[in-house]
Formats: sequence, C-alpha cells, structure tokens
Amino acid sequence: MAGHRATVCLTFDFDAISLWIGPMGATSPSAISRGEFGVVGVERILRLLAQTGVPGTFFVTGHTADTYPAAVRTSAAAGHEIGHHGYLHENPAALTKDEERAVLERGFMALQWAADVRPAGYRSPAWDNSPHTVELLLEAGVQYESSLMGQDFQPYWCRVGDVIQADGPYLFGPEVDLVELPVSWILDDFPHFEYLSLPNRRSPGLSAASKVEEIWRDEFTYMYREVEGGIYTLTMHPQVIGRGHRMLMLERLIAFFQEHDGVRFATLGRVASEWRAANGRQLISSQ
Ligand SMILES: [Zn+2]
Repeated sequence: MAGHRATVCLTFDFDAISLWIGPMGATSPSAISRGEFGVVGVERILRLLAQTGVPGTFFVTGHTADTYPAAVRTSAAAGHEIGHHGYLHENPAALTKDEERAVLERGFMALQWAADVRPAGYRSPAWDNSPHTVELLLEAGVQYESSLMGQDFQPYWCRVGDVIQADGPYLFGPEVDLVELPVSWILDDFPHFEYLSLPNRRSPGLSAASKVEEIWRDEFTYMYREVEGGIYTLTMHPQVIGRGHRMLMLERLIAFFQEHDGVRFATLGRVASEWRAANGRQLISSQ
C-alpha cells in the first residue's frame, strides 16, 4: 500500500432473490420482487462506478449468477471483481461440513458458468462463518475472506482451531494463509435501511440517508486521521443502495473520499494480494 494514505473499497453483495427465498423463506411475489430490484440497482451502480472511475467488488450468490447471468457478466466485463457469496445465501453455521463444501462448489460452478470467473475472495452470507469455513476456503484455494470483525481498518490473518472456553481464557488457534478483510454492521447499508417484518426477521430500517452518510463519513475521517494506510470497506446491497436518494448519498460519498489526498479506490482482491505480499513472512502457520 506504499504511497497510499488510505484505501476505499466499495463492495456490493448481489443477493437478489436468493436472500428472500433462502434465509427469509419468502414465497410471496411481493417479497421476491424486493430481490428482483437488485438487478435494477446493479445497473445504477455500474453506471456510477463507470462515471467516477471507481472499481467495485461484487459478492454474488450462485443463485443470482444462475438467475441474472448477464448482470454478473457485465459487472465482470467492466473490470469489477466478482467474489463468492454462497449459493442460496445459506448461513454456513447451519450447515454440516459436507453441506458447506457442496454449497461452495455449487457457487463456484455458477460464477464460472455466468461470468467465467473463479473468485479469489469469499464473503459468507449473513457474515456468519462455521467452524469449518476457513479450512474449506483454504481447500478451495481462496485467497481472502471478508466476513469477520476483529479489526475495522486493517487486514489480518484468519485462524483455525480456536477453542471456546467459558471457564477459562479463549484459546486462539494458529494463523493460516487466508487474509481477512474485515467488515462491520456500521458500514453495511442493510441494517440501516432495509425494513423487515417477517415472522423470523424484524428490522426497522428506513434510516434517513443523511444519518448514514454522517456515520460513514466520520468512520472514514477517523481512519484517515488515525490509521496510516487504512482500508475502508463499505458493504452495500444493490437492492438497498440502488434506491434513488441512497444513490445520491453514495455519489456524494465517493466525491468526499476523492477530495482527500492520498486516497485510492481498490478491489478487495487487490488489497488482499498486496497485504499478503507485504506481510507473508510474519505468518505463523502449522498448515
Ligand atoms: Zn448477502
């Protein structure tokens, strides 16, 4: 990250319909249509990224790739990164190890079919990893993961074999060769904006964009001042950020980031490979 005082990564989780029929268990056309709006959002996002010359990282479920292959292909063709995001937005923590491996393989196949890509990065649906996730990602040759919250603006190595003890200290397992590019609910559009009233999910959402803009600007301002070479990762969803007033917010935020000296925009894949190259020798691995 030499020469870059700060890096901004705009990431988009393209869940589309998979979010609604998968974890939400929806069958009503109205709920499903909220996912359909994702493809409208993607078109708007691609236009804004093209206008501003900013690269994006799109985490795409296999179901989305199977349903909207053209949108995924167009995103990849425009130079944006495509990452893995499960098949039907399954929560990995609810799967057996074999089921989780099968979901990973199915997601890879769908992305290969739709856009001829083999992702280097993975973001778990709902940011909920299982005890096997890291091992399975290593097995699949994945380079980085973006679902954990142990840091805010700095990458770190994933671990395997942590031991959870309630009557003694938490035992940290060894670090492995998988870069973590951390996320946070604060820097995610979904809980701020998305109204949900389902039997299994409730969220008031519907925040004013001005409030979210204030939080997102101040997180950046703090990082820019206090964390040299920090990585600022926003997580957005085309079906959420794609609404008009929120797109205007995103447009203002991009301009705000660009006003700062030494700020660049990058894909997560680029950040992960740079960080690995700079930090590889510190890796203590028993693998
Ligand atoms: Zn998602």
